Amino acid sequence: MKLRPFIRSLGDILFPRQCAICRKTLNPSERHLCTACLLSLPYTGYRAHSGNPAERMFWEHREVESVTSYLHYFPGTGAARPVISLKYFGKMNLGQYLGEKAAEELLSTSFFNGVDWLVPVPLHKVRWNTRGYNQSHEIARGVSRITKIPIKTDVLWRRRNNRTQTRLTRHERKENVDQLFVAHRTRGLEGKHLMLIDDVLTTGATLGACIHALSHIKDLRISILTLYVTGRPGTAPDIHHPDVTTVKIEHPTDE
Ligand SMILES: [Zn+2]
Repeated sequence: MKLRPFIRSLGDILFPRQCAICRKTLNPSERHLCTACLLSLPYTGYRAHSGNPAERMFWEHREVESVTSYLHYFPGTGAARPVISLKYFGKMNLGQYLGEKAAEELLSTSFFNGVDWLVPVPLHKVRWNTRGYNQSHEIARGVSRITKIPIKTDVLWRRRNNRTQTRLTRHERKENVDQLFVAHRTRGLEGKHLMLIDDVLTTGATLGACIHALSHIKDLRISILTLYVTGRPGTAPDIHHPDVTTVKIEHPTDE
């Protein structure tokens, strides 16, 4: 037996690892999810297909080249549990693992062709300070590990959003969201191709605001990869484990 699997087996005896969805004890060859849960995740199958539903959300942005999402997000199902563990329970390695899986699925397509940098959607500094990490950055780490595309974190910054949306007109709301991010250190980005990475695509408002902040950069191309895209309620496949989600968050992103 090789040393690494041996150490993992020994570790599994002393500290059994559990599947992030069904909590079954993992065998030494499994990472984060058991094989049954991994096989039954609600994959979108979008891969690099042009005009997929996620991509259609960004058709108004001329800079956007390709968009894809790896999994459907159905609130309250077992398959939603990994992103909740990633965002609220510090499971950074799980985010990296899912980033790797998403990248592996796309590696044989043209999706990463010509991409210069991966840019995780930033958290606001206050949120980062309380959480201690940015879940999108963890996903990007996994993607980078597979694709070897470097991560860039000094270009986009998130502003504090103090204005309440409720009293604003529709136009003012859009302006308010559009000003959520600001771009810095953009010299040298002309003609480059950035891939924005986020955890869950819901309305597209957050990513739209990122695009807005970058839109002044000449000839910049933007692609988008999200781990999840929100599914329509009632369309969730019958996912195996009834008691799997202890924290229910209906709108996990665009925060
Ligand atoms: Zn499982």
